[in-house]
Amino acid sequence: MSAIIIDGKAISLKVREEVKQRAGALRPKGIVPCLAVILVGEEPASLSYVSAKEKALGEAGMGSRDFRLAFSTTEAELLSLIKRLNADGKVHGILVQLPLPSHISEERVITAIDPRKDVDGFHPVSVGNMVLGRPGFLPCTPHGVLALLRELRIPTAGAHAVVLGRSNIVGKPLANLLARRDVNATVTICHTGTRDLGAITRQADILIAAAGRAGLVTADMVKEGAAVIDVGVNRVADSTARRGYRLRGDVDYAPVAEKAAWITPVPGGVGPMTIAMLLRNVIESAERFAIEQL
Ligand code: NAP
Repeated sequence: MSAIIIDGKAISLKVREEVKQRAGALRPKGIVPCLAVILVGEEPASLSYVSAKEKALGEAGMGSRDFRLAFSTTEAELLSLIKRLNADGKVHGILVQLPLPSHISEERVITAIDPRKDVDGFHPVSVGNMVLGRPGFLPCTPHGVLALLRELRIPTAGAHAVVLGRSNIVGKPLANLLARRDVNATVTICHTGTRDLGAITRQADILIAAAGRAGLVTADMVKEGAAVIDVGVNRVADSTARRGYRLRGDVDYAPVAEKAAWITPVPGGVGPMTIAMLLRNVIESAERFAIEQL
């Protein structure tokens, strides 16, 4: 078998086009959807993520307010900026790029964001709403993975979905969303404490790798005909590459693609969907603010 390669870039462009139209519809009301993007320090990967998000916002006819703060910024300074942005009626979403320097508590910072502007979906209120199945912002990467499954019509009802990773931003929410009644998968979560990982991943109809370990998922760990979604983004040193590294997923791509029925490439799979879902959260927030203004 040779897998269908899931073109996350193409699917994300459809979402971005829809968002652009919705942003256009707000313009006559004098509303420009706006995301405040805060980056502390100059971590190269974070810088490139932030630039990609800001570029996508601009292309969708939305605004961004860019806060590039020094690594030495204190937690109190960051919290005071968030307080100001919470109160600013022209800002519809607040994104703090993670990770933060170790002298700043990510938990305190995330909790300081007004849940109505929590377009990353990381605030405990957003997480609670997600778990309870109530309306609220869904975290962008897990939501993007679900959108890919839906777009490709990959059967999820009754399917065994195995999620590799239990982080707060990817693994845990993804497992939760997959178990929702409208998705209806049977979910197993794996982590570093899992015994005989391969024995579990081989049972997966849908295997989602979010471990952050290049090439962790080898072909012998995959069931014939599975859908393999690779969330991992790993920089692997390569002296022949222009930047001295290449991006690789958690999946050993070529051999797994021979066995799977669907597979996402890295780059060009889940990554573009994450940005598209962020844009969708921002437009939803702006639309809600517009209604409240009436
Ligand atoms: P994380 O916080 O480091 O969590 C990794 C998870 O994987 C942990 O739960 C860890 O288990 C588990 N794990 C690590 N090595 C393992 C192994 N050998 N066997 C079994 N489980 C293992 O990472 P994250 O933030 O969730 O991100 C995961 C990956 O996705 C990273 O490569 C990241 O760059 C990428 N990512 C991509 C996007 C995107 O838009 N494409 C967005 C976010 C993240 P323990 O809990 O036991 O430590």
